[in-house]
Amino acid sequence: MDFSHMSFEQFKSRFSSEDHCIQYIFHMKWPKGFICPRCSHRHAYTTKTRRLPLYECGQCRYQASLTSGTIMEGSRTELYKWLLAIFLVSRTDEGTTATGLSSLIQVTYKTAWLILHKIRSMIQNSDTQNPLSGSVRIHSAIYGRPFNPSVHRHPQEHLLLVGSSSSEANESNYLKIKHVQLPTPKDRHISRNEIHIFRKQHIETDTQNVEIVTGFYTPKRLRPLIEIARQASNWINHTFHGLGTKHLQAYLDEFCYRRNLTTRNISIFVHLSQLCFPKTGVHIII
Ligand SMILES: [Zn+2]
Repeated sequence: MDFSHMSFEQFKSRFSSEDHCIQYIFHMKWPKGFICPRCSHRHAYTTKTRRLPLYECGQCRYQASLTSGTIMEGSRTELYKWLLAIFLVSRTDEGTTATGLSSLIQVTYKTAWLILHKIRSMIQNSDTQNPLSGSVRIHSAIYGRPFNPSVHRHPQEHLLLVGSSSSEANESNYLKIKHVQLPTPKDRHISRNEIHIFRKQHIETDTQNVEIVTGFYTPKRLRPLIEIARQASNWINHTFHGLGTKHLQAYLDEFCYRRNLTTRNISIFVHLSQLCFPKTGVHIII
């Protein structure tokens, strides 16, 4: 179910009743109908006396709650507010701040911050499970100060490594931008050690075709990757007003997440919903 074409008001109205939210989350968890996580039985009795429904397996009596295993497990915030937050984050035209979210969905700043933090954690987990592979290109870049001719790093400069997998047609099909924290504060040179760490963490082990450029003035510069880093920086500055350095990595991952899905024509709302409400299968419960 893709609602990404809707305006915020249309989406809000679509999920104005708790029942519609329950139906949506139930469908995401159990797209082919209830399946008991313990014994895989297909029938459940629904208890509606609680704030959220509870599904009791008709065979083994295991009780599955609607929100267990989802992003909202343990949360007391209403379902529709979570769905609105996911919808807002999934929009490609703008980013979402905790201040903006708190006023749009009527929660405290702290709650809005926690909701966004959880959504961004899902995005970061998804990225961790997708290493770069095939033909990979890596380039250094800088977030922060637009131009600094010095060989030393300015305190407002943050070093980045932009990595991209390319298809056979040489088109970038998966992108990662990682914040590189060097041990020496003024250092502006990304060493072999940082490259080694990036390769180990973000590139599939047996990848042979890896091109790396780390010089800022070298003629070998990979301009498309520099341009992507510039777009990411602009988006962070526009949305978070440059205050994002503490959470810089989360914002970079969010930028790449939207871009990667858009490149592959995948609905961000659908994909994000799948991350937040994963399908419930059979697993062993101790
Ligand atoms: Zn059961």
